[in-house]
Amino acid sequence: MALVNENFLKLPGNYLFSEVAKKVAAFKTAHPDADIIRLGIGDVTRPLPPASIEAMHRAVDELSRSETFRGYGPEQGYDFLIESILRHDYATRGISLSPSEVFVSDGAKSDTGNIGDILGQDNTIGVTDPVYPVYIDSNVMAGRTGDLVNGKWSNVTYMPCTAENGFIPALPEKRVDVIYLCYPNNPTGTTLTRTELKKWVDYALANEAIIMYDAAYEAYISEEDVPHSIYEIKGAKKVAIEFRSFSKTAGFTGVRCGYTIVPKEVMAVTESGERVPLNHLWNRRQCTKFNGTSYITQRGAEAIYTSEGRQQIQETIRYYMENARIMRQGLQAAGFQVYGGVNAPYIWLKTPEGTTSWQFFDRLLHEVHIVGTPGVGFGPSGEGYFRLTAFGQREDTLRAMERIARW
Ligand SMILES: *Cc1c(COP(=O)(O)O)cnc(C)c1O
Repeated sequence: MALVNENFLKLPGNYLFSEVAKKVAAFKTAHPDADIIRLGIGDVTRPLPPASIEAMHRAVDELSRSETFRGYGPEQGYDFLIESILRHDYATRGISLSPSEVFVSDGAKSDTGNIGDILGQDNTIGVTDPVYPVYIDSNVMAGRTGDLVNGKWSNVTYMPCTAENGFIPALPEKRVDVIYLCYPNNPTGTTLTRTELKKWVDYALANEAIIMYDAAYEAYISEEDVPHSIYEIKGAKKVAIEFRSFSKTAGFTGVRCGYTIVPKEVMAVTESGERVPLNHLWNRRQCTKFNGTSYITQRGAEAIYTSEGRQQIQETIRYYMENARIMRQGLQAAGFQVYGGVNAPYIWLKTPEGTTSWQFFDRLLHEVHIVGTPGVGFGPSGEGYFRLTAFGQREDTLRAMERIARW
């Protein structure tokens, strides 16, 4: 019989959101008339920008005629999209990258999960805690994490981010090879300033480590001192791979498009000490295992960089961030300690003294019929916290805050 990859068997069975869904379904069965407001899963609710819709319609029409039909495209993405990305997301911030450093994909989840393919088995991993689960789970699948002991993987260095340290992770005491950073952060909604991010780039330069920088929420940054790209920090092109997504920026969660920057200078080393550029390896990996993002999708993504497209996505981001403001205000007025929600569409709140994340989840569901996400589901340091998203409809957000005010 064929052997399984036993690393998969180490993964705990209960995925956070399926546990949440199960509890909500059970509540719904017991209380069929309850009007449940869902502020749990991090999915968007506003429709796509009209500029993208029009561009995708045009692309469909092109595919309908033999003169303009296109089949397989370049695995790395079409030049028209790569050029828009370089001009609008990087050149405007003084960052110069070449087209061959950009890899368009079907989203940041795939890329952050797959990037480990090009790294050796024996790398040590550092993650902020709490964390987007993909970074750890994909390393579990690759066999890099050791064993799960009391909710922590034995070969993973956890860098706690809590109210006590202002959600600013300390540099690891024990050297790590690969560091995952996500800013603005999911789930905490917090950010690093330029000075704080520079400490990580300097650490990576000094320790020959690689930073996997997930900037999926970059478009939500409102404060001046928060970098949009890690390449705003001097030296980062030598040590950082950056992941971006159109999902939260432009409502592409169902359309699927993102991109990854792998600068030519980022190197890793062979057992015999030879330095190898990761750009070549990622290109090889993508050409072998990925056949490109659809033409229609890439035209839709390109359209968000037009002046109408940019205006439309800004409008949607303002809508979500107004939800965030309403939630921050409502929760603070109700006496909660809240974090995030200024440069990110997530509110991270401290559960009342002596209440665990899951106890708070149950109370919120049973007493005011609101669904959120227990912080502990994102890692051990998330215990005692709770995540609410600002991606809901305005009316639901307002109704949820009214219920909490009366609670
Ligand atoms: C939503 C999200 C992504 C985006 O994933 P896609 O696959 O592009 O939809 C990436 N990273 C984090 C932290 C996210 O929350």
